[in-house]
Amino acid sequence: MQLVAYANRLPVTRGRHGWRPSAGGVVSALRPALEPRESSWIGWDGGAGDLPRRVEGLDVELLPVRLSRREVDDYYHGFANRTLWPLLHGLVEQPVFERRWWRAYRDVNERFAAVEVDGGGLRWVHDYHLMLVPSLLRRAHAGPIGFFLHVPFPPPEIYARLPWREQLLDGLLGADLVSFQTETYRDNFVRTCARLREHVRVEGQTIALGRRRVRTAAHPISIDAAALAEGARSAATERSLRGLRTQFGSRRILLGVDRLDYTKGIIERLRAIEYLLAERPELRGRLAFVQIAVPSRGEVREYRELRRNVEELVGRINGRFTDPGGDVPVHYLYRGLPPERLLAYYRLADVCLVTPLADGMNLVAKEFVTAQAAGGGNGALVLSEFTGAAVELRDALRCNPFDLEGLAATIEHALALDEGDRRRRIERMAADVARHDVYWWTEQELAAARKARSAA
Ligand code: UDP
Repeated sequence: MQLVAYANRLPVTRGRHGWRPSAGGVVSALRPALEPRESSWIGWDGGAGDLPRRVEGLDVELLPVRLSRREVDDYYHGFANRTLWPLLHGLVEQPVFERRWWRAYRDVNERFAAVEVDGGGLRWVHDYHLMLVPSLLRRAHAGPIGFFLHVPFPPPEIYARLPWREQLLDGLLGADLVSFQTETYRDNFVRTCARLREHVRVEGQTIALGRRRVRTAAHPISIDAAALAEGARSAATERSLRGLRTQFGSRRILLGVDRLDYTKGIIERLRAIEYLLAERPELRGRLAFVQIAVPSRGEVREYRELRRNVEELVGRINGRFTDPGGDVPVHYLYRGLPPERLLAYYRLADVCLVTPLADGMNLVAKEFVTAQAAGGGNGALVLSEFTGAAVELRDALRCNPFDLEGLAATIEHALALDEGDRRRRIERMAADVARHDVYWWTEQELAAARKARSAA
């Protein structure tokens, strides 16, 4: 069956030697579904203007949506990132409600839906940027429509604050299948529809609109575990790992890897480390916390403030616990890393700290356990219970990142676990990720979308 994907950005980046496929999470997730069949991808061209229809190394037709600077500001930086992002992540930051941004969001969604595509097939719409697209497509498209939300869906009492709450729900209800990362987000959505849309009937996990049925599903997104494991054992990663081992010597390594985003709990993590070093002086000089913070959304005020706060806190901790001539406790890297370097850090770490305040899934957790197991490692995973990944990774050490002392105690516990226990946990989690990898996710999604349509 032909497949047309809709996502905010097209999956290509302009490098020094021309266009190439991008490396991001959504791109890696959709490639296995798109490349084996005739497929197109509709997305914003990032302002390029001269994008080719096809790019070497990616077997997908590219159909660009062009946006003005004003549209990017209002639809993307505004409504998507300052209204929906904090709202859907359960108000970890205050959402901004601005009518002008809403209008731009509506207009841009209409432009996505209006892109002409030859042929029928499945229309597969992705994420919070495009929540109106399913109902817009339904007017003209006879084939099946699926929607997948990569971020959380909050409980109705939080979602209900949105001034345009009915319009967005109706947008999603244009799909035959609306999918989420976890059962909790799916339940939240179903309860929200029941509460805010009087004309719908909820039948279990299905929403009935007159004679039409909208199915819902929970399909946790994942990684290409086999490819990541291979990368983790590659010569380039081994080389990088040897270098890091020499640099860090016998210190035990705590690792954080995140986009610099306020949902990720980086401030809370740093405070827990500060508390641990203050309470346990014997750990000073024996621990290094490496925080890789990938620059993100620098156009948005809340993100610039977060960066300032993180950097101030790193400075405070290093100022407080560094001995003259000695090493700093926090190694803060404000940049993205090449793949083999990131994999080397995953393998190096004794403990990976994945402590978001809210996170739809969190792929770093899945990558860490996969890389550790591939290298025969026994690192521990400390995982926030507010991530989608916590549903699957049952052998992680769970934490509530809002509880500073509890988080510090969990980190200490992770460091103290015996090696055999840690190894068994890592192996079980990696085996689970390998079984439920991105190919499995793709099959689940596509099969459910086809089924939903034939039963509708
Ligand atoms: N990542 C990356 N370069 C880096 C650090 C991380 O490409 O220097 C990737 C990482 O491998 C992971 C993704 O960024 O696949 C982060 O995904 P996650 O689901 O954890 O969070 P998101 O950023 O999507 O909220």
